Amino acid sequence: MFESLNEKLERSFKLLKGQGKITEINVAETLKEVRRALLDADVNYKIAKSFTEVVKEKALGQDVLNAVKPGQMMVKIVHDELATLMGGTSVDVNLQGNPTVILMAGLQGSGKTTFSGKLAKFLKSKKGKNPLLVACDVYRPAAIDQLKVLGEQINVPVYSEVGNMNPVEIAKAAIKSAKANGQNLVIVDTAGRLAIDEEMMKEIAAVKAAINPNEILFVVDSMTGQDAVNTAKEFNDRLDFDGVILTKLDGDTRGGAALSIRSVVNKPIKFVGTGEKLEALDVFHPERMADRILG
Ligand code: GDP
Repeated sequence: MFESLNEKLERSFKLLKGQGKITEINVAETLKEVRRALLDADVNYKIAKSFTEVVKEKALGQDVLNAVKPGQMMVKIVHDELATLMGGTSVDVNLQGNPTVILMAGLQGSGKTTFSGKLAKFLKSKKGKNPLLVACDVYRPAAIDQLKVLGEQINVPVYSEVGNMNPVEIAKAAIKSAKANGQNLVIVDTAGRLAIDEEMMKEIAAVKAAINPNEILFVVDSMTGQDAVNTAKEFNDRLDFDGVILTKLDGDTRGGAALSIRSVVNKPIKFVGTGEKLEALDVFHPERMADRILG
């Protein structure tokens, strides 16, 4: 495991003890440690750099130089700034509309289908919703089967149309069916590709335009580190999504992608995925993520 930033800073300030007053140069060295910790956590390089500039201003403003425990004070400043940048507080998913329509977007393999199942289960049990899952991945019959298996596990119906290659038609028909059957939540799982391509973007933009969702959630694999930022930016430029789902946080990433994505697209991270099972969903807490990034 990595040495935590807390330990590193305590160590570097201990070394300074006996050298008299801590100077601005010492703070600069400490900031290098902060930047390294952020890079270790997969935070995008530019963001790590501008973040340490902000922390430097704060540190000098709060007079870390004269603090009794400068290491601890520095860690607190970094921690608070991280949490603030990641939004400060948790943000709920928008449940307006009858039915509430949620559109899922993201690359193939990001965990979109799994998360659709998790969200249906969560909103069914926690908010008393009566969901319908919609299989709009018309290119991969396996994706439709996967959603059906998930639906069975949580006792939620899945809408699909065998042979129909038009996701706009399927999504519209699904919403109609939900209305007819008294289902007050529709979660639309869309097709993903291994990399962003124009056709996929056009298709999901067309689905958005046709169904006017209450909420668009962008799903991204936290293990993809720096790439996650570019993917988030492209999807946001096209869809202007409402929130981010960061999956696979049960892996060994520190989760720096959370900070990078938030900084670049300025949209809240709403949930994190912490495993393959359908209960492995957590509401996103900026404070906890700050702890995790700092280790
Ligand atoms: P999609 O192509 O975006 O729909 O992705 P899937 O939902 O099919 O997920 C791809 C793989 O990632 C599957 O093997 C899932 O079981 C796995 N997966 C999804 N979410 C998580 C998570 O939070 N943690 C872990 N460890 N695996 C996940």
